[in-house]
Amino acid sequence: MLEIKNLHVKLEDEDKQILKGVDLKVEAGKVHAIMGPNGSGKSTLSYVLSGRDGYEVTEGSAELEGEDILELEPEERAAAGMFLAFQYPVEIPGVGNMTFLRTAVNAQRKARGEEELSASEFLKIIRAKAKTLKIDAEMLKRPVNVGFSGGEKKRNEILQMAMLEPKLCILDETDSGLDVDAMKLVAEGVNALRDEGRGFLVITHYQRLLDHIKPDVVHILANGRIVKTGGPELALEVENNGYAGILAEEA
Ligand code: ADP
Ligand code: MG
Ligand code: MG
Repeated sequence: MLEIKNLHVKLEDEDKQILKGVDLKVEAGKVHAIMGPNGSGKSTLSYVLSGRDGYEVTEGSAELEGEDILELEPEERAAAGMFLAFQYPVEIPGVGNMTFLRTAVNAQRKARGEEELSASEFLKIIRAKAKTLKIDAEMLKRPVNVGFSGGEKKRNEILQMAMLEPKLCILDETDSGLDVDAMKLVAEGVNALRDEGRGFLVITHYQRLLDHIKPDVVHILANGRIVKTGGPELALEVENNGYAGILAEEA
């Protein structure tokens, strides 16, 4: 699904190297978790994959189903099936949540050569998905994320993901700032999307989200590189001993 090879990334305006040779393969049907200390480059990786400005790839490659995605515009990457749930969801005043989602869903269907959804078809689908995430009708009418609580913003990211049905879902610290109940809702929303045709990259600072979204593979990203890869037990090791042990071992 996703294959990253020797990815090196620096800031465009500064002489600062952030990713220093990341190798990663995410297979369809699998959930890969990326953990790592603050500042190790986790968000940068998610931004570079989704096409945010300000970063320069100096070496390496990233392919989605064999297609080089680094040359594509963000919307082309989305149409190819990539989705990023932001660590810090953005408020968009003046744009209704429902309008935003309908426009995004139909733009993507169009890019894929599928027919647009009618207003009533769209309503039926979004109401059902919003209900499972406990997002009420009023939140769908408000401007995107404006005045939403931290937990509501994160659930709204998962609603976007559920509506767009991406092939590769990247979640950047979707658990941060959530209480236990909100985290369970988010995890249920993610688990409902687990499918043999879909891959997940779940970035998280803490192990607790992984109690609810069981990963197949866990990677530790530190100082711009993946320094260790293992099974779910690796997340527990981090929970119990922090990153120090792993980093010392690596050094
Ligand atoms: P993580 O998500 O693992 O906490 P980030 O990818 O956010 O790490 O950041 C990695 C490093 O790169 C940090 O030292 C951060 O300050 C720096 N960095 C990332 N993006 C920028 C930027 N746009 N401008 C300046 N520094 C940045
Ligand atoms: Mg951080
Ligand atoms: Mg981050």
